Amino acid sequence: MGIIAVAGGGAAGMMAAISAAECGHTVHLFEKNEKLGKKLYITGKGRCNITNGADLEEIRKNIVTNNKFMYSALYTMSNDDVVRMFEEAGVKTKIERGNRIFPESDRAGDVIDGLAGMLKRNHVQIHLNTAVKKILTESGDGGERVRGILTGEGTFSCDCVIIATGGVSYPSTGSTGDGHRMAEELGHHVTELLPALVPLNVKEEFVKDLQGLALKNIMATFYVDGKKFHEAFGEMLFTHFGVSGPVILSASSLLTTVLKQGKQVELVIDLKPALDEKTLDERIQREFDSFHKRDFRNSLSNLLPKSMIPVIISLSEIDEYKKVYDITREERLKLVGLLKQLRMTVTSTRGFHEAIITKGGVNVKEVNPATMESKIVKGLFFAGEILDVDAYTGGFNLQIAWSTGRLAGFSAE
Ligand SMILES: Cc1cc2nc3c(=O)[nH]c(=O)nc-3n(C[C@H](O)[C@H](O)[C@H](O)COP(=O)(O)OP(=O)(O)OC[C@H]3O[C@@H](n4cnc5c(N)ncnc54)[C@H](O)[C@@H]3O)c2cc1C
Repeated sequence: MGIIAVAGGGAAGMMAAISAAECGHTVHLFEKNEKLGKKLYITGKGRCNITNGADLEEIRKNIVTNNKFMYSALYTMSNDDVVRMFEEAGVKTKIERGNRIFPESDRAGDVIDGLAGMLKRNHVQIHLNTAVKKILTESGDGGERVRGILTGEGTFSCDCVIIATGGVSYPSTGSTGDGHRMAEELGHHVTELLPALVPLNVKEEFVKDLQGLALKNIMATFYVDGKKFHEAFGEMLFTHFGVSGPVILSASSLLTTVLKQGKQVELVIDLKPALDEKTLDERIQREFDSFHKRDFRNSLSNLLPKSMIPVIISLSEIDEYKKVYDITREERLKLVGLLKQLRMTVTSTRGFHEAIITKGGVNVKEVNPATMESKIVKGLFFAGEILDVDAYTGGFNLQIAWSTGRLAGFSAE
């Protein structure tokens, strides 16, 4: 039985440590923070969306980057396996809208307690406040192989190292890219790191007047260099800098690369996707008929949220004090156009400190998908967000962490 060192005590590292210990190895888990799972505490707004109940095909579809690389990992630990494991560890789960699975208690802390219990039962030795600084290797007949790690406390000899140090988003939780640097030192390549599942900055000043406004049932269409790129129906939120909320965060995972490339990105919101232009025009005409003596500014309350009315009025360029009966057909059709196509210029994504995940990471071509072992250094494994694999929201990113952690932990020996 070997000695395994795991660098990083997040979701993937804890799962890898538990799995390697279940195989009978002596496992040491090194975490640079004062506690394990700092990021896990804030997942799912403190409720931790641990996985998704969809079938595996659907899970793969929700993995945006390198989903083929995930085949073996997902079979080694499926979403059902994750639920079963947590239930056995005393963490009851429940399923919510969109098949998202949470602890029944709505407490991320219970997920961490469940993992801590499994680490303890499997005698994993935990080293807190201990950052791994370097992976030590030696050359032999079969090429380069791991011989240990260097921490602030000195050299630690081991047979295998599993790097599970996360990405570079929310760096305050400890994910600061140490693992990427160590992987590069050993000859690995790291693909470009970009913030993903991240709010978007918008040029138009009017978003500031809408900040805090959440819209449900809208259709968001993104155009890149004038061509339709992505479309999604759902919820969004205006912020002081731009837009956020579920449809925007998901789209950001696709847009982050094109924005970085300097392409023009336009967001067009259909505020009334259930009505075509003609039906919406008829609806507005009915509103105008019933409010015909009112000022224009007092005629939109049945059509729009309160905070949006001044913005739409200003964009329509119709005098807000104009009597509704004086509004021309042309003006009314302009209003229809605004409600069907509220246009914004997306300038960039927000930064890593606001990004739920990091897009990019250790190039998966250099990692064996059947084991998570490096193809460059023997005895070196990767798990979790450090890899160039990322997914949409809904529990899929943690599923990546659990599955790759399990596979790396089972494979290390
Ligand atoms: C606000 C927020 C909410 C989220 N909500 C969800 C959700 O509900 N569902 C979902 O599926 N995903 C969610 N995610 C994404 C998910 O949290 C991550 O994908 C997942 O935590 C990645 O796990 P990991 O173990 O690979 O990395 P991390 O969780 O980042 O863990 C890496 C660990 O390594 C440690 N470390 C780093 N460098 C060193 C070093 N040199 N030595 C020792 N230790 C080191 C870090 O301190 C950290 O503890 C959310 C993310 C954020 C930021």
